[in-house]
Amino acid sequence: MFENDIQDKVKNSNLFEVVYKKDKFLLDGKEYPIGYTSYLAIQEECRFMDNKRVKSLLAFSEDLLQDLTMDKLSYLHKIILSVLNSLKANPFFGIFDYDKYADKLNLLFSDERLEQYMDIYIVYRDNYVVDTAEKADKLDRLIRAFDDFILALSIPKILDNAITQLTSYSSLVFQMTHRIVERGARNKSQLADAFGDFLNNPYLQFTFRTDTQPFKTRATVMPVIENVNGENYIFRKVYYNNLKDFLNTDLFEGYIHGHYLWRCDICDRYFFMTTAHKQLYCSTKNPKYGVPCSYVAKHPEVVKRKMERQKKTDSPYYLLWQKRNDLIRKNKSLGKYDETISAKAKEYIDDRFDEAQINCDYAETQFEKDMEMENIYKAAKEMLDV
Ligand SMILES: [Zn+2]
Repeated sequence: MFENDIQDKVKNSNLFEVVYKKDKFLLDGKEYPIGYTSYLAIQEECRFMDNKRVKSLLAFSEDLLQDLTMDKLSYLHKIILSVLNSLKANPFFGIFDYDKYADKLNLLFSDERLEQYMDIYIVYRDNYVVDTAEKADKLDRLIRAFDDFILALSIPKILDNAITQLTSYSSLVFQMTHRIVERGARNKSQLADAFGDFLNNPYLQFTFRTDTQPFKTRATVMPVIENVNGENYIFRKVYYNNLKDFLNTDLFEGYIHGHYLWRCDICDRYFFMTTAHKQLYCSTKNPKYGVPCSYVAKHPEVVKRKMERQKKTDSPYYLLWQKRNDLIRKNKSLGKYDETISAKAKEYIDDRFDEAQINCDYAETQFEKDMEMENIYKAAKEMLDV
């Protein structure tokens, strides 16, 4: 009963939406650089996911229709929520807004809906014969709930697919990154070479089906107009009906933008590069030494081995500082801001850059925000007022 409807629903439901803005994407209210899913997916928790919970949810849902009851429907709701809750801690699934999906599920499994689902089930099971106006009326009301009923029954399969697809993406990213690092691809053209070889490698073609449309997507695209700092822009909003399409698109588009992963030579963890493509060591805190690896690299006595030198200009924080410095000078020469305020703005970005170099929590969470032009001039004005 309903097998085809469920299959169809699993394939064709719009599950979530992503807005693409230049080199960033927006998901559930938060922005990430394009390609960032590769960084999340390469974490061990994604590569080796425990799927026991979702497998038992799937097994429960497969037997459900043999003898459906209200209690079983309520229990289905409960275990779906518990699977979602367990996914919250996963680095990748954490980017979805759990509360938003839990609210949707609560509507889908409301008492009123559950009663309608039971009626639908009975109508189908008992081959309901429509021979009175009253019966026709009832059927009409139920048809409206049918779509939700099928969606409710499809969720276990949708979740199972999502976990399988994330695991497979995670291993694709791992293999791909391994090749990029091994070949020392440090610019867009070398990255393109490494990516091309990856796609043409017969073994990988077999494993990841890269020979048959590796980045095939079935998504719905809508234009959205958004106001950014007083100006309107056209962005692309994409509705995805499976996770794989989103992930593959993100990796592929990330590479186009030169956003990719590198492995830190000191801690072996992966870091995500958007600008500083010659970065050798990560800027996150090394658990062994309590300071960022980029700091460790400058003090070889800490690790007692010879380090390759990483230039100051190889830091993404330096590159951002440099960009802002150029803009401040440009605005001054265009007469947009006078000499006094420009000098203060420069003082402010120098100070923020110094902070970013010694405080890695600040650098990772706040630095970029503080370095937005709007914030720079606001801070410069405030400094003058005092
Ligand atoms: Zn490191």
